[in-house]
Amino acid sequence: MAYGMTALSLASCLLAFVLLVALVSIRRKNTAIANLLKRKSDQLEVSEEELRLLATTFDSHEPILITDKDLTIRRVNPAFTRATGFERLDLVGTKASMFSLEDRYLPWHEIHHALEEDGQFSGEVMCRKKNGQCIPMYQRLTAVTDRHRGTTHYVAVYSDITEQKRTQEKINKLAFFDSLTGLPNRRKILDSLDRELAHAQRYETAGALFFMDIDNFKDINDTLGHDHGDCLLVELGRRLTDNVRKSDTVSRLGGDEFLILLPGDTSNEEDTIEHASRICEKILALSEVPYIIAGQKHYVSLSIGITIFPSNASSPLELLKQADTALYKAKGGGKNSACFFHPEMQRVAENRLAMERDLREALQRDEFMLRFQPQVDGGGVIRGAEALIRWTRPGIGAVAPEQFIPVAEDCGLIVPIGNWVLQESCEQMSKWLQQGLALDHVSVNVSPRQFRDADFVARVARVLSETQLPARHLMLELTESVVVENLDDAKSKMDALNALGVRSSMDDFGTGYSSLSYLSELPFYELKIDQRFVRSLFVDRKNSVIATTIIAMAKSLHLRVLAEGVESEEQLEFLRRHDCTNYQGYYFSQPVSACELERLMAQAGNEYHHGPPNLSVM
Ligand code: C2E
Ligand code: MG
Ligand code: MG
Repeated sequence: MAYGMTALSLASCLLAFVLLVALVSIRRKNTAIANLLKRKSDQLEVSEEELRLLATTFDSHEPILITDKDLTIRRVNPAFTRATGFERLDLVGTKASMFSLEDRYLPWHEIHHALEEDGQFSGEVMCRKKNGQCIPMYQRLTAVTDRHRGTTHYVAVYSDITEQKRTQEKINKLAFFDSLTGLPNRRKILDSLDRELAHAQRYETAGALFFMDIDNFKDINDTLGHDHGDCLLVELGRRLTDNVRKSDTVSRLGGDEFLILLPGDTSNEEDTIEHASRICEKILALSEVPYIIAGQKHYVSLSIGITIFPSNASSPLELLKQADTALYKAKGGGKNSACFFHPEMQRVAENRLAMERDLREALQRDEFMLRFQPQVDGGGVIRGAEALIRWTRPGIGAVAPEQFIPVAEDCGLIVPIGNWVLQESCEQMSKWLQQGLALDHVSVNVSPRQFRDADFVARVARVLSETQLPARHLMLELTESVVVENLDDAKSKMDALNALGVRSSMDDFGTGYSSLSYLSELPFYELKIDQRFVRSLFVDRKNSVIATTIIAMAKSLHLRVLAEGVESEEQLEFLRRHDCTNYQGYYFSQPVSACELERLMAQAGNEYHHGPPNLSVM
């Protein structure tokens, strides 16, 4: 019994102990739960506060835009809709690049790269408003990332910098532009000159700098008064600007001194000298147009000093000095004149001007004549002849077309000269046909300027009818530059020529754009492989590949293919092996007079076989 009692009290003690332990443990858990709850509630409070803070930030007066990683807009704040005029719904779901994000100077992929590297990027952007207006904004971009997926969103914060830009512009205007004429001032032009000089040195181009002043400006100013003198300067600035290209810069240094900067866009110094000479002539010719000042006509002339850069000059100031020295020399030569800094430049410019002067008279003086170069087929039969112009210049002798055609092209004289060539060639071809000469065609070179003329097709039609030459006996040789300049115009003119029955040949193929697309679009009859490929068939493997590719291409486009400049039997054999069908070159004949061509055709009777040129009549 005692044993039973002891056991019972032991059990109750144990139970009490267990209960006590359980109670303690429950209490501890409760405390832990209470602590946890308190912590969570504290955290919630913090998060809520953060959210409140974030919401307030998002609603700030700074426009904010949030996109996903594909730049699809997810959110914009009211400041953004106010600034751009778009509604929130106009924007959400559209691509942000539609109106911003593109930096003014950097493409998106570079911005993206910066975001990947640094997580943020800032720069200026032009934002398009709903009404189409563009506003300059400063954009700060931040990439939002998560631990697993990398970038998930982009946040862009903007500030409108229109006012800042306006102020900057005003400051720029004051600092870099002449307040009287509105032209760039000395500081600005020296800056541009510095850039252009570096560009010319780096890319080996040649540009020009003009230094000009008004002859006797002091007298004009004294007699007319300063106000009227100012009007004259403004008007002169306007006229100078009207006579140069958009890429050229006219600037006023101060007083009556003006500069013109022609940036270097050609690698050939002589071309730049020629271009500068032409501009110079235009400017000197301005002296013939009176200025109306205070109701009176005044004739004003300029003197011009020109230098070509980079050629020896290492700084803008040095260039300025060279042009100034040249101006001083020009003044010494009398009013309304121009002078180049280097005697060599002066010589090139004078030669060009003299050539232009002589060319103007050459037609009246009957100084041009035509030579005809036979074009033969694979059997050596003369099929046609290319008319090539020759000029005997008084006191100088024969001048190569490659020297005078570009000058004639530049000053527009190529139009009357080209018309003369067309007329003469058609007359000669018509005569040959009447004589019974079995010649298929005469080929006439057409220059870009001539072809550009609106009445070119009408002129061809007129010449054909005047000379009674059936159109199929005329072939016009056009170069690539003629057609690529304005493909639509070229197509409509060539279609019209085709309708007349005149055929067209693509001259010097392979030297320019050599685009398949225009060849297939335009109604060419023949393709002439430029002689430079033929000349170096065995010198440079690349050229033989080009020549054979052109032949294959012509074949697949159903064009007749003629190789120019064939000088040797090896060249002929190679071309023949690769399916070329027509040839022209010294191997067969030099360009000859009309009588000589008749003689060549009369003496030929056999088909061409290997061996020396033995031309046949078709
Ligand atoms: P082009 O139309 O490609 O004429 C072919 C030129 O290659 C001619 O030079 C011709 O004499 C030359 N030639 C022919 N066979 C050979 C040869 O085997 N070897 C070499 N080295 N040369 C050869 P040309 O007569 O001096 O004419 C040069 C360029 O002047 C012509 O090139 C053409 O672009 C232009 N030209 C000539 N006459 C006229 C014309 O009446 N009007 C126009 N707009 N341009 C013309
Ligand atoms: Mg030609
Ligand atoms: Mg040619």
